[in-house]
Amino acid sequence: MEYRLINVLKQYDDGAVTALNRINLYIEKGSFVSIIGPSGSGKSTLLNMLGALDTPDSGQVIVNGVDLASQKDLSDFRRHEIGFVFQLHNLIPNLTVQENVEIPLMDAKLSQKEKHKRALLFIEAVGLLDKKKQKPNKLSGGERQRVAIARALVNLPSIILADEPTGALDTRTGAKVLDVLRFVHESINATLIIVTHDRDVARLADRTIEIRDGQIINDYYNR
Ligand code: ADP
Ligand code: ADP
Repeated sequence: MEYRLINVLKQYDDGAVTALNRINLYIEKGSFVSIIGPSGSGKSTLLNMLGALDTPDSGQVIVNGVDLASQKDLSDFRRHEIGFVFQLHNLIPNLTVQENVEIPLMDAKLSQKEKHKRALLFIEAVGLLDKKKQKPNKLSGGERQRVAIARALVNLPSIILADEPTGALDTRTGAKVLDVLRFVHESINATLIIVTHDRDVARLADRTIEIRDGQIINDYYNR
């Protein structure tokens, strides 16, 4: 899916804080984009707009030619089109890895057997096949993040939104997690958008967008 943002404005505290200051942005279908900027620059607010978790005060967020403001069921849009990888992975503690990954498939038109097969495919992709029967509290932070990634992607979303996906991880585990995200982005041709404050992570993307004080101050291709 592609995004077109037109003059997106988002303020807080009755206009005292401008989180996004009339952003204009085009994101190509199937691309891998990183959004970088210091704390408080508006990264999460931007990601929330892209994920239809929040709406602009003015301006438009257009996905594949459709203004999100005209969509009746944004929850439906989120569930079917977007894979969220956020820092609080919200795994359900009394479900196994496999059961957690199968949650998004609940209302999918697949047989039980097909659901298991699909879940296991993604659990394998994140390298956790041997842990499929474990509960989240038996896993390390990196492993939990990888379960969250498998769960975010099992529905084959057309957009993957990841907020600091490597934030809480050591460099090596972070690199593995990014490999998995990139592999799946390439396999299912999903648009991958990650927010990070880490330049080494940001440069892995095809394109980097730098924001500061709610404005795009730099926008470039990495290769
Ligand atoms: P980043 O993700 O880059 O750290 P944010 O998008 O979280 O930045 O925040 C951008 C600005 O908006 C900051 O000044 C922040 O304090 C403010 N802000 C974000 N969310 C809220 C909110 N719910 N209420 C009030 N101010 C907010
Ligand atoms: P539901 O009606 O199924 O609860 P929601 O619209 O609340 O649907 O959520 C749809 C998708 O958006 C889910 O994948 C959920 O994880 C994600 N989501 C909803 N709210 C948030 C949030 N605040 N932060 C991160 N992801 C969220």
